[in-house]
Amino acid sequence: MTARILDGIAAAADVKNDLRRRVDDLSREGVVPGLGTILIGDNSASRSYVLGKHRDCAEVGVVSASIELPADSTVDDIEAAVERFNRDPTVTGFIVQLPLPTGIDEQRILEAIDPRKDADGLHPMNLGRLVLGVDRAGVDSPLPCTPVGIVELLTRNGVELEGRRVTVVGRGITVGRPLGLILSQKGIDATVSIAHSRTPDLGEEVRRADIVIAAVGRPHLIRPEWIKPGAAVLDVGVTRVGTTSTGKARLAGDVDPGVAEVAGWLSPNPGGVGPMTRAMLVANVVQMAERSHRSAAGDPHVALR
Ligand code: NAP
Repeated sequence: MTARILDGIAAAADVKNDLRRRVDDLSREGVVPGLGTILIGDNSASRSYVLGKHRDCAEVGVVSASIELPADSTVDDIEAAVERFNRDPTVTGFIVQLPLPTGIDEQRILEAIDPRKDADGLHPMNLGRLVLGVDRAGVDSPLPCTPVGIVELLTRNGVELEGRRVTVVGRGITVGRPLGLILSQKGIDATVSIAHSRTPDLGEEVRRADIVIAAVGRPHLIRPEWIKPGAAVLDVGVTRVGTTSTGKARLAGDVDPGVAEVAGWLSPNPGGVGPMTRAMLVANVVQMAERSHRSAAGDPHVALR
């Protein structure tokens, strides 16, 4: 294996150490940040993601609150839960765990969230601010957690982004689309291509990239022979491919294991982008608490992450 590991567990631990200090500063001023989660239905993967988010919060001193609704909840039931957190002053920011049960309009639910409490950064107002004001994004409004986690993982490992060619595979709303905007913003200055299921020659797009980010959900789609030797490769996609003898889900990433023999850097899956995504969710909540505390105190300067 030639690739160095982009260790998301270690990087997330560093992020959380920094967050713990910021939460301590806030608590000295009487502010306790709180994350809310809304879980609908009994999807076991979603439940374990939500539990992980609560654990991350507890580690840094952020309190958490949860609402659980049955799988047959109506849009009105879910909107009522969203409204409860919108009004709850102990909830600084919150998420609705995706995916929602079949038949529920995801966009409608996301739009019901108060954009100032949108801990996942997926409300159209926050995504719109990312499009319109990329230089100020993250200062004025929360950014989506996975793309920011990817950028943090690269920069914390010293992987240069300025002037590098990046191929993002996948144009989904949670990863690929916002990631392209963030990587190409002034100050980061990567040159980004976004590939998808209709890209005629995916291998060719990947081959010219210094950095490849695969956010698709197709096991081992990214082939070793597509990788420029020394490139950084981030494996974001997660697909359930069966169950282990102990009944746990067996998961596969988007990147073929053989890529480790060609790449210069590789994010393991699990243990790469996933922990960073969760750390960035807590970071969004802490930043929201800092922003609202400072603006209540009349300070026009908001804290940068
Ligand atoms: P999504 O909205 O379903 O997007 C998937 C994208 O992959 C689409 O743009 C699709 O293209 C593209 N695609 C599908 N098959 C392809 C192929 N054969 N070649 C090239 N592109 C192809 O999913 P998402 O929400 O962005 O998530 C993507 C993956 O990342 C999922 O596996 C998800 O579980 C994972 N994820 C992981 C984390 C983490 O923290 N580790 C966080 C978020 C998501 P079209 O647009 O043309 O259909």
